[in-house]
Amino acid sequence: MVWEFHTDPEFQKEIDWINQFVRDEIEPLDYVLGSAINLKQPHYEELVRPLQKQVKERGLWACHLGPELGGKGYGQVKLALMNEQFGRARFGPVVFGAQAPDTGNSEILAHYGTAEQKERYLQPLLDNQIVSCFSMTEPQGGADPTQFRTTAVEDGDEWVIKGDKWFSSNAKYASFYITMAVTDPEAPPHQRMSMFIVPAETPGIEIVHNLGFHGEKDPVHAYMRYNDVRVPRQNMLGGRGQAFVVAQTRLGGGRMHHAMRTVAQAQKCFDLMCERALSRTTKGEQLAKKQLIQAMIADAWIQLRQFRLLVLETAWLIDHHNDYLKVRKNISAVKAIMPKVLHDVASSALQVHGSLGISTDMPFTDLIVNSYHVGLADGPTEVHKITVARQVLRDYQAGDEIFPTAYRPTKREEAKARYGFLYNE
Ligand SMILES: Cc1cc2nc3c(=O)[nH]c(=O)nc-3n(C[C@H](O)[C@H](O)[C@H](O)COP(=O)(O)OP(=O)(O)OC[C@H]3O[C@@H](n4cnc5c(N)ncnc54)[C@H](O)[C@@H]3O)c2cc1C
Repeated sequence: MVWEFHTDPEFQKEIDWINQFVRDEIEPLDYVLGSAINLKQPHYEELVRPLQKQVKERGLWACHLGPELGGKGYGQVKLALMNEQFGRARFGPVVFGAQAPDTGNSEILAHYGTAEQKERYLQPLLDNQIVSCFSMTEPQGGADPTQFRTTAVEDGDEWVIKGDKWFSSNAKYASFYITMAVTDPEAPPHQRMSMFIVPAETPGIEIVHNLGFHGEKDPVHAYMRYNDVRVPRQNMLGGRGQAFVVAQTRLGGGRMHHAMRTVAQAQKCFDLMCERALSRTTKGEQLAKKQLIQAMIADAWIQLRQFRLLVLETAWLIDHHNDYLKVRKNISAVKAIMPKVLHDVASSALQVHGSLGISTDMPFTDLIVNSYHVGLADGPTEVHKITVARQVLRDYQAGDEIFPTAYRPTKREEAKARYGFLYNE
């Protein structure tokens, strides 16, 4: 196993270009445009498309995709290095063709879509001509998908979908939804559901209410109702009862991309904290000279470095194994620690900025709320910790004896039995 901690110099040039491009061209859009997934908003064409064109010309568009889909097929390590640059800006992912949930949904379509579905949905999605929605969670419980009740029942050549979905992000702008529904209620829990493409214009789709959270400009998380929504038989993605397998196609990559962008957001807070500590003077000296402030800076730096290394190690393992399931423990570990890192670093940055820090003139409160977002979306932290622990415990066995294997009296007896001659000297 070879470990390297340097970036290939040719790729570093791309990273440097992205860094500058994000600061000079993309970050300003965050202050003048609305939601990054509203393609119809005024000035989107005029302001966003030329930047996307530059990214395409540079060969950096939708790099998570394989070359057959117009991407570079970059592995997760390169994606991590890119995301931690463009993740600084709200419009960063959309300018680089890498915004959730479209990235994950495009992976599902690429794997399971028919040629016609790919032409109708995948290509425009990859070109950012449309956006999509992943409609899985339900109001009565998201963390436990075995509680889902939305059903899809066969009727001739169609499936009829009925039920409520919750927090279906971007539904109001999406051209299609990827929807999970119970097709086989009698099957074992993880084989009861199937996945469907549901075009947004299908009769019976109702957005009951759009939820938003602090820091979001536009409430986009839909409480949706499927009122006997009919889709053709071929709109089922993957096999019948295979929804969990299909969902796995998108979740591993999606969680990693969120983590990579979280590194960017935490780094942004950290940079601002250091700048402020050096700029502000109190009781005759810089804040940066106060030991309690130094402790905050040191703790934040260490926490961020640890997290970034975990993300990069996990990215490297995914590239190495080319299989998300083999790296499940590591991906869940990344997902579980990510909210805490962002929360802690953003909170320290807020504190060092004093009253300015808590105000809406600075980004910290948004990012603290965002730390809860990344701790819930794609599964809550507790569930990921359970996965880490379960996977870790697979490598261990219960001891045979009543006392632990490191129990000193036993160890001493064993050592004496082996080296008894020492006691006779
Ligand atoms: C910003 C945002 C965007 C989202 N976008 C989408 C989307 O596009 N599509 C979609 O389908 N869903 C989406 N979700 C929903 C998300 O997947 C769920 O919020 C998540 O799975 C948790 O489900 P829940 O909110 O129903 O919480 P619950 O299942 O009610 O859990 C509540 C809390 O209980 C605790 N808990 C739950 N399970 C366990 C356990 N096993 N052990 C210990 N404690 C536990 C945790 O603290 C958890 O936060 C989004 C959520 C957010 C916040």
